[in-house]
Amino acid sequence: MMGLVPGPEGAAVRGEVARILPFSAVDGPGNRGVVFLQGCDFGCGYCHNPETRMACALCGACIGACPESALSGGPGSRPAWDRSRCRDCGSCVAACSHGSSPKVRSMEAREALDELEPYRPFLRGITVSGGECLLQSDFLAELLEQGRARGLPGLVDTNGSRPLASLPRITSAAEGFMLDVKAWNEAEHIALTASSNSTVLQNLGFLARQGSLFEVRTVIVPGSFDLEETVRETSAVLAAARSMARYRLIRYRPWGVRPERAAALSEPDEDLMARLAALALAQGAASVLVS
Ligand code: SF4
Ligand code: SF4
Repeated sequence: MMGLVPGPEGAAVRGEVARILPFSAVDGPGNRGVVFLQGCDFGCGYCHNPETRMACALCGACIGACPESALSGGPGSRPAWDRSRCRDCGSCVAACSHGSSPKVRSMEAREALDELEPYRPFLRGITVSGGECLLQSDFLAELLEQGRARGLPGLVDTNGSRPLASLPRITSAAEGFMLDVKAWNEAEHIALTASSNSTVLQNLGFLARQGSLFEVRTVIVPGSFDLEETVRETSAVLAAARSMARYRLIRYRPWGVRPERAAALSEPDEDLMARLAALALAQGAASVLVS
């Protein structure tokens, strides 16, 4: 887990940014710029972005792995990344055994939004994702507030591990939320993510009642948790709150997952996805998307 790097007193808040994507059509409504923040407090076995989990351990192992000499420095300091030489080949991330990346940047919110500025006429808004973006809550609030001031309203894509009822600056600045419900049963959630889901489920009810939930997502991994219970109970919460949030059921796929983890997981078939979608609708979910 990691958080903000504190700056000198009075300095602008800085965040650890894993990546900025100028266009995405799958991270909320319309075309969106996406800011991925570094650091996550869950340890999901099927994590598709394992390089966004941890702070750099300053080991230097990635530096020699770069075929373009885009990385420099040595053990004991953060590698310097020359973006102009980088071809995005992924060799450095593959060489990192610490769940990190040498391409993480320390930025002010203004700097992150400046990178999206050329695309602003084509964007409906921004989505802040991760890692887990709520771990950098001050920086997230800055991004949301400054984004809104530029005409780029912000969605928050979160694992729900921080209680949103006690983060009013974020709930008032955000356009909406996308929340993962990874498993309903707490013991299964701990086995899947190494973390409790009690705050996640509190957030599910809170956001659904508040009307700020845009989407709930569950990754369907057969055999890893009680799929029917998770879909049924999550849908029931949405229905009880009369939430219009869509429920996205995501097929587990092995791409991007560490090979040793992926080998132990299986993919769902079409019949299973269809049955779970029907179950969600029967429980009163307003809409269901299978992807
Ligand atoms: S992604 Fe960029 S920095 Fe990393 S190894 Fe490839 S060229 Fe080098
Ligand atoms: S990004 Fe990973 S491999 Fe590179 S210095 Fe940091 S911890 Fe080591």
